[in-house]
Amino acid sequence: MAIFDYAPAPESVRPAIRERYGLFIDGNWVAPSGGRYFETVNPADETHLSQVAYASAADVDRAVRAARKGYEKYWRRMKPADRAKYLYRIARAVTERGRELAVLETLDGGKPIKESRDFDIPTAAAHFFYYAGWADKLEWAMRAGRVPDPIGVSGQIVPWNFPLLMAAWKIAPALACGNTVVLKPAETTPLTALALAQIVREADLPPGVINVLTGDGATGAALVEHAGVDKIAFTGSTEVGKAIARSLAGTDKRLTLELGGKAAHIVFADAPMDQAIEGVINGIYFNQGHVCCAGSRLLVEERVHDEVIVRLTERLQTLRLGDPLDKNTDIGAINSKAQLEKIHELVRSGVEAGATLVQQQCVLPSRGFYFPASFFTNVHPSHRIAREEIFGPVLSVLTFRTPDEAVEKANNTPYGLSAGIWTDKGSKNMWVAQQLRAGVVWCNTFNQFDPSSPFGGYRESGFGREGGVHGLYEYLAK
Ligand code: NAP
Ligand code: MG
Repeated sequence: MAIFDYAPAPESVRPAIRERYGLFIDGNWVAPSGGRYFETVNPADETHLSQVAYASAADVDRAVRAARKGYEKYWRRMKPADRAKYLYRIARAVTERGRELAVLETLDGGKPIKESRDFDIPTAAAHFFYYAGWADKLEWAMRAGRVPDPIGVSGQIVPWNFPLLMAAWKIAPALACGNTVVLKPAETTPLTALALAQIVREADLPPGVINVLTGDGATGAALVEHAGVDKIAFTGSTEVGKAIARSLAGTDKRLTLELGGKAAHIVFADAPMDQAIEGVINGIYFNQGHVCCAGSRLLVEERVHDEVIVRLTERLQTLRLGDPLDKNTDIGAINSKAQLEKIHELVRSGVEAGATLVQQQCVLPSRGFYFPASFFTNVHPSHRIAREEIFGPVLSVLTFRTPDEAVEKANNTPYGLSAGIWTDKGSKNMWVAQQLRAGVVWCNTFNQFDPSSPFGGYRESGFGREGGVHGLYEYLAK
């Protein structure tokens, strides 16, 4: 029930989008060898945005050779302080073009402009600034105090939920350590990676240091299998991550995997309830729930369950779903038709299993891919909605009675990426955090990110860390 309504406030900037993009190899825009292009659309209204080159195995070969040449000829030989200058240049360009990049990210992927403007783009720039600062201080990253060697050519594959930010997470530490890169963005969100390629060109980086190959899963697989790649950094689904691990087994390629999650978000009865409710809302509905570390399993202490449900139900009705380019929008578009179908399928399974569905009451736009903010009560730990990653704006609510039971239920998942705890009692916060098997645990907050803080999972959420000093180790020879 809206008490009052907002006038539309659409973002007015429209970035220039080319009719057609080539591949970015060896510092130049080149046509794909097979002559194939594919379309990228705006998921908010299904309109066409651009034609993007499809990189075949032959193009992967060209890009890896260019990256090898860039590595041997320029980047590994360059003085670390000079590498830093290039990284600072990229960081500044991303900041200066922040508004344009934010609109591009929202157009191509469907996320609300307030998120791309205030989170994705500034955090991407912050990663370039942070790792630029490390480039000439690498001996301080290693315990032995020696200047460590880079690994070589890094193949980097990123998903569609934070396209530019995931690219920055991977490129910035790789370059700071002296490696070169072949980046493969996701099929549905290639435009900010291509804008970054243009920035790289204008920043005058030596040819081959960063190459961008648009394409699909087969392009990614060809990159993984290419013998000239020394390291693969992958962010995406657990299923593809496992296939990559199998394909690299027995080779001496280095590998880091940032995979899926099904994070427990634990609310104790003594929690600061106003903040906890906001934390839960942010934890699941940020970026339509397309977040690997989303707090998608809410564990509530039984005696405050009813109060929490009443407050969540009220808060749900104040969320604004609609045009992602509107500055007042909280819930934008689902990234693709395929993802929307996956969400519908899992939500149907929850209803059929007997859980109770509560949804935001709103009119969905007639075109584009949308799903209302939702949560399930009466969820059993065995339900698919409690076990599988939905990757949409859908929360599953379970209950517990004691801290031990909260920990047991929280850890009852094959994943281990993130978790959240809300309680007024510091010792309980610390004890529970120590018991949780998750790479990141947020206490009385959620979704906090900083380039100086490592991020990553264990168990089926992957291995390796991105961010902070730990993020450097993944790009340095052992
Ligand atoms: P995905 O299908 O695994 O795709 C991720 C990337 O891998 C895309 O660029 C994709 O290309 C490419 N790819 C697909 N098949 C491949 C193959 N056989 N070999 C090499 N590359 C291949 O994942 P998604 O559904 O797009 O992304 C959502 C998943 O990412 C969720 O599970 C989420 O939890 C996870 N994620 C994890 C983190 C983290 O830090 N742990 C962060 C964000 C997202 P196409 O797009 O062209 O298919
Ligand atoms: Mg798109």
